[in-house]
Amino acid sequence: MMGTHQERVLVVMAHPDDPEFACGGTIARWVREGKYVGYVLITSGDKGSDDPTMTRERLMDIRENEQRAAARVLGVHEVHFLRYPDGELYPTMELRRDIVYHIRRFRPDILVCQDPTAYYFGDYYINHPDHRAAGEAALAAVFPLARDHLNFPEHLEQGLPPHKVPVVYIATTPNPTTWVDITDFLDIKLEAILQHKSQVKDPEALIERWKERLRTSDENGRVRYREGFRVMYLG
Ligand SMILES: [Zn+2]
Repeated sequence: MMGTHQERVLVVMAHPDDPEFACGGTIARWVREGKYVGYVLITSGDKGSDDPTMTRERLMDIRENEQRAAARVLGVHEVHFLRYPDGELYPTMELRRDIVYHIRRFRPDILVCQDPTAYYFGDYYINHPDHRAAGEAALAAVFPLARDHLNFPEHLEQGLPPHKVPVVYIATTPNPTTWVDITDFLDIKLEAILQHKSQVKDPEALIERWKERLRTSDENGRVRYREGFRVMYLG
């Protein structure tokens, strides 16, 4: 590996557990291939509880710890929390600036984010509005904000020059253009998902549901598992 560039992947998502559900198999595969992977979680999922005795502070703690455990299972190298309030996300200039900061610091070859155009999936899921806001802010941070030095010039004073992200993987999209085969990484994805204990009520049912969603077959009729993305090559 000496002298070769280690590819860097930055995953920017709204909540703890989003990366594992959206693309945990792909992340595990990339880590195995030698890529360096970092997470930026915009909120700490501090409202995702139906326990009437739960407080936001306790829940933040629980969910950040679960997220770190899940990231460890996948082999992710760093995890950052921006701690915006859960359920209230807008793609504001403040949020864009905070994502630009991490892009200029981390200098990703690939940025992974959520799909801001997805309002619903099939007839069973209204997309969480935080996911749309996170995707919109992340894409705005990639282009044009992180690229052009006149945006947030304070970053340059902090030693962080502009950065052009060459490739973007938009996860949880109803319109995938690229499929990543995660058959060898299905078990590790599911193990990572199960680290989010406060979010998983019935592990067996959840595993069956997700295997069903990810399942496909190859040209020989063999079962394979895959994750879909809209991939943008920005050159
Ligand atoms: Zn989420």
